[in-house]
Amino acid sequence: MEGDAQAPYLQEWRGVFHGRAAAVVAPGSTDEVAAVMRLCHEAGIGVVPQSGNTGLCGGAAPDPSGSQILLSLRRMHRVREVDSANDTLTAEAGCVLATLQRAASTADRLFPLSLAAEGSCMLGGNLATNAGGTNVLRYGNARDLCLGLEVVLADGRVWHGLTGLRKDNSRYDLKDLFIGAEGTLGVITAAVLRLFPRPRQIQTALLALDSPATAVALLPALREAGGDTLTACELMSRTSLAMALAHIPGCRDPFDATHPWYLLVELSTPQAGDGLRGALEKALSRELEHGHILDAVVAESMDQARALWHLRESIPEGQRCEGASIKHDVSVAVSQVPAFLEAASTQVETALPGIRVCPFGHIGDGNIHFNLSQPEAMDAGAFRARWDDCNRIVHDVVTAMGGSIAAEHGVGQLKVAELERLKDPVELELMRSVKRALDPTGIMNPGKVVR
Ligand SMILES: Cc1cc2nc3c(=O)[nH]c(=O)nc-3n(C[C@H](O)[C@H](O)[C@H](O)COP(=O)(O)OP(=O)(O)OC[C@H]3O[C@@H](n4cnc5c(N)ncnc54)[C@H](O)[C@@H]3O)c2cc1C
Repeated sequence: MEGDAQAPYLQEWRGVFHGRAAAVVAPGSTDEVAAVMRLCHEAGIGVVPQSGNTGLCGGAAPDPSGSQILLSLRRMHRVREVDSANDTLTAEAGCVLATLQRAASTADRLFPLSLAAEGSCMLGGNLATNAGGTNVLRYGNARDLCLGLEVVLADGRVWHGLTGLRKDNSRYDLKDLFIGAEGTLGVITAAVLRLFPRPRQIQTALLALDSPATAVALLPALREAGGDTLTACELMSRTSLAMALAHIPGCRDPFDATHPWYLLVELSTPQAGDGLRGALEKALSRELEHGHILDAVVAESMDQARALWHLRESIPEGQRCEGASIKHDVSVAVSQVPAFLEAASTQVETALPGIRVCPFGHIGDGNIHFNLSQPEAMDAGAFRARWDDCNRIVHDVVTAMGGSIAAEHGVGQLKVAELERLKDPVELELMRSVKRALDPTGIMNPGKVVR
């Protein structure tokens, strides 16, 4: 593809990252990907793999030189096999995540990876970023859901690692190198994924709380009540929820009063029956009695459950309507989340009075989207000019707590410099050694993750 036809591949949906490419190629098979890689290897041309182009760190955007090739996996969208007895699904990298969920459901199974971009993001990108989402608490992230990979290496050779084995100690776990590598080590062309029994009972509730510390304290109580049925646990600050309520159609506050914090919890189980609701209600009334919960609503129907999730999923768009934002995708130990929120909020509010702190995220995994909205009266450009200052403050707090500055969205090009500033030099050097071993001429997604 050349000229205008390239445009959708070179600009991501927010318009934040864009580049130029010598060509956009969209191979239709693993052999064709291998042929492209062989040519690029021989000519020393940089290759940027791209799947759904929903990544948030600029990993799928070529640089501005116009000398790199963008390799789209879009045409590789076959579900190759569903093995119900083995609880596995084998699919190509260009399968849209929602399609995989449907394929699993058709086989009366669950593929539990779930994120707001699931209608557009694709398996290759999900694995390359080790995507997280809302069900990590119960099922793990993309890495935990993958048993085997097929990968085209930088020189065009193909690693046929498409195994559905759950036990195999005959090798180094090579797949774990490619998962989360953001296309810097090879092109993922297909994967074997783990399937699970489909949930027969799902209970969703929104709890009003006084603090993140209460949310953390509730986690063991919810686990005690529901065992391993606790599937999702999402924290929302009032500031972030208020932005969704103010701007996004269909968002309605289920409580009469406003509260400082909210916890969206979901329990699910493959067991038939109705015992889950009773267990949840019992746990919630005990916590209400003890004053740990200020108020609670339990969804009476799937529609009500969807309405509660709509609140959570509308936060990023609601925040966009409030002007410029500076975002952080960070993680700390779950026990440290309250201290992180306290320290990071205090420091950014001191550095920029009037800044609006809108944290929300997957508190059950210790993963907070620590988003900052511009002061109401401030010029958007002037606020964005404080990007590096805010990053430095937040990332320093996270690092001092032993956390990660790239919890689930990856590093891409966005966080390369911060990674160099903050990562253990030994770890960085090990990463560079792996990169040199698998991509000796440095053609795989140059400039992303490690330089
Ligand atoms: C509204 C919204 C909500 C989101 N919510 C979440 C969330 O909850 N959790 C989460 O983890 N992420 C989330 N994301 C981020 C994004 O959707 C994920 O990172 C997703 O996994 C990226 O998939 P993709 O197919 O779009 O990848 P792309 O954007 O195409 O690529 C992402 C990276 O992977 C590399 N890559 C792509 N395909 C391959 C391949 N076949 N082989 C090797 N490398 C490849 C690219 O080079 C790039 O570095 C969200 C994004 C949006 C827009």
